[in-house]
Amino acid sequence: MSKPLTDQEKRKQISVRGLAGVENVAELKTNFNRHLHFTLVKDRNVATKRDYYFALAHTVRDHLVGRWIRTQQHYYEKDPKRVYYLSLEFYIGRTLQNTMVNLALENACDEAIYQLGLDMEELQDMEEDAGLGNGGLGRLAACFLDSMATLGLAAYGYGIRYEFGIFNQKIVNGWQAEEADDWLRYGNPWEKARPEYMRPVHFYGRVEHHPDGVKWVDTQVVLALPYDTPVPGYRNNIVNTMRLWSAKAPCEFHLKDFNVGGYIQAVLDKNLAENISRVLYPNDNVRRVHTWYFVVAATLQDIIRRFKASKFGSTEVVRPSFFCFVQVAIQLNDTHPAMAIPELMRILMDDEKLSWDTAWDITVCTCAYTNHTVLPEALERWPVDLFQNLLPRHLEIIYEINRRHLERISALYPGDHDRLRRMSLVEEDGQKKINMAHLCIVGSHAVNGVAQIHSDIIKDTVFKDFYDVDPQKFQNKTNGITPRRWLVMCNPGLAEVIAERIGEDYIRDLSQMKNLLKFVDDDAFIRDIAKVKQESKMKFAMHLEEQYKVKINPHSMFDVQVKRIHEYKRQLLNCLHIITLYNRIKKEPNKAWTPRTIMIGGKAAPGYHTAKMIIKLITAIGEVVNNDSVVGVRLKVIFLENYRVTLAEKVIPAADLSEQISTAGTEASGTGNMKFMLNGALTIGTMDGANVEMAEEAGEENLFIFGMRVKDVEALDKKGYDAMEYYNRIPELKQVMDQISGGFFSPGEPDQFKDIVKMLMHHDRFKVFADYEDYIKCQEKVSALYKNTKEWTKMVIHNIAGCGKFSSDRTIAQYAREIWDMEPSLEKIALTELADSCERLRRHCFIEGL
Ligand SMILES: *Cc1c(COP(=O)(O)O)cnc(C)c1O
Repeated sequence: MSKPLTDQEKRKQISVRGLAGVENVAELKTNFNRHLHFTLVKDRNVATKRDYYFALAHTVRDHLVGRWIRTQQHYYEKDPKRVYYLSLEFYIGRTLQNTMVNLALENACDEAIYQLGLDMEELQDMEEDAGLGNGGLGRLAACFLDSMATLGLAAYGYGIRYEFGIFNQKIVNGWQAEEADDWLRYGNPWEKARPEYMRPVHFYGRVEHHPDGVKWVDTQVVLALPYDTPVPGYRNNIVNTMRLWSAKAPCEFHLKDFNVGGYIQAVLDKNLAENISRVLYPNDNVRRVHTWYFVVAATLQDIIRRFKASKFGSTEVVRPSFFCFVQVAIQLNDTHPAMAIPELMRILMDDEKLSWDTAWDITVCTCAYTNHTVLPEALERWPVDLFQNLLPRHLEIIYEINRRHLERISALYPGDHDRLRRMSLVEEDGQKKINMAHLCIVGSHAVNGVAQIHSDIIKDTVFKDFYDVDPQKFQNKTNGITPRRWLVMCNPGLAEVIAERIGEDYIRDLSQMKNLLKFVDDDAFIRDIAKVKQESKMKFAMHLEEQYKVKINPHSMFDVQVKRIHEYKRQLLNCLHIITLYNRIKKEPNKAWTPRTIMIGGKAAPGYHTAKMIIKLITAIGEVVNNDSVVGVRLKVIFLENYRVTLAEKVIPAADLSEQISTAGTEASGTGNMKFMLNGALTIGTMDGANVEMAEEAGEENLFIFGMRVKDVEALDKKGYDAMEYYNRIPELKQVMDQISGGFFSPGEPDQFKDIVKMLMHHDRFKVFADYEDYIKCQEKVSALYKNTKEWTKMVIHNIAGCGKFSSDRTIAQYAREIWDMEPSLEKIALTELADSCERLRRHCFIEGL
């Protein structure tokens, strides 16, 4: 077994990673040493690995600065339409390598670091992930930032700078334990604080109605402190901005009523206000109210200020110029930033003195809403009581929006009270609540789902009433992933093998991947693809061995399911397959089994009991299977601890099989599925989310599709799902369940998994047993094909050739043209001398917050 090339060696052979010219390398080395000395105040005798990482980060960052200033200046001069992507999550991961890739600095930096006697991968591993997200929704926002910059859009990502991102997951005795993610401990070289652009955000208080307008008074103020992070496009000299807000108590916070004791208490209480941006909520799809309004209020102040500074906003007469607010698009990433709608109404009416009708037209034309889920528990409803107290003016505005909305509906459907109740923004049964999705639909000109099947479902089910009255609002925008991070950066070997055949333009135009179809029968290409995969597998196997002392067989099939742990994603179905396979091997140990290493990873929300039990079950199965000498190397089960962006970048290139097995109709799109497809894994999956379109693009015969379709799930619901029927009919399923409930995987504690067993047998919303038989049969086909490397690899090539649609560049181009009314462009902007006039630069910097 030959040692795989290190990335460093590989990159030397690679053209797509920029040229390592002698001058570039020399300059990088000089700047690296300068930063080590002047920025980190260290010399090589005392510098740590982390110091070297920071020196390199600063050296690379220097290459962003000129482009960043120039881009913002360009936007100021040209006044293009701006798009604001509002998201409570940006799951960025690491930034160093991504910056080197997008700026074509990677080869030169590799060479410089090598000449300095350091190890590039070791330095990169010192970078903390920016884990400001839970899963797919937050990662989508991060991919979109990359694509918006690459497509030359004047775009801004706005969100929260959580002091603690998604928790770090430790596995202790097979259980999940959470550790705080103190990612800022050593500083963040990629952000720039802008204290001079701090903005006040108001809470509480009361509303006064005066003849000359409405006043919201006696409020409490929390300051929003912006931190800017550069977002470089792919080799086009564009650098956009992600601005994240941090909460700061004002200096006079509660100090007005101080005596000596009160003063100390007031200073201690500052922490309470600053809790707003303290920690990311680790519950996928449920977040906190204060934090949501905080980001929206601070962001809208920025948007209005930037608009007023543009030629459209800066006329003498302010009022009419607001008709030009069409120069602004606001995209709401789920309902979390929904308060942008009433907040924009409040600003336009109370501050800018526009009429309701004008303010409403501007708001609806500006805002658009993306829905990410149809699971009812994830559709947000805020208690009215909470609103009344925290944001009284906004509650008034929402009531008025609702009054006018219901007036329109009752004119369209006279006497249809049930419809009015269903469509109201205010839910009256039990505790009064605001339905945030309804607010978003009514207050937006476009509503989109994130894959075709999901967009169809929301029109037919959850939002049907709204579709009936405003069909033109409803659109589809199938999700995508950025090929820069998810191929060029994480799998350079594969990127290069592809570039050798079809050139490198596919990196910004992924549809060119279809040109690979010419090579499906080319033996040399098939061999190259298989070789790259084998190298990635060896590399990941070495990583597991170094980090976790686990030994795996790099020639076994790597069968991977990584994603948040959720009942609907059905990690339990995977468990049933593992145990079935185990039982079969035990029964016939001498059969020619296809060896598998099954890896499952993902975090469970800390309060989600079932999800935590699922993790325990996976690790318990691993204990039994991995220590059974009869089974040996044929089957191993690994729980991948602390799944996050950086681990995704390591494991996905190494995967042979991608598990995408949600109950049809529950996974809105998925994006993990696309990452695996792009990296040469085959998919075993249900007809759910974007799997449907993946099958369309690659050919259904090139995926392993199994299980119920949406219509089958609906039919089964109608008939009544009876899990016991499957249990009694299918002997292997019965055996597996009896083992789990009989303590086979929990010898000391036979009752350990009783909650899971009870759920699967009696109240399983996601119908795991209904897909069991078909899943097992489909896995048999997978094992059979895997034995034939050539046929397997041809299927892989069909998948890579078919993944063009799943670039987030395509997704963003569609958002731009069909929702934001903007035109994407792949042109570079010229890197001419910075400002020709100091005065202009000064003025510009003042306005742009640079
Ligand atoms: C892509 C990604 C996800 C989303 O995965 P799904 O399989 O689509 O749920 C979640 N977490 C991380 C770290 C990711 O990179």
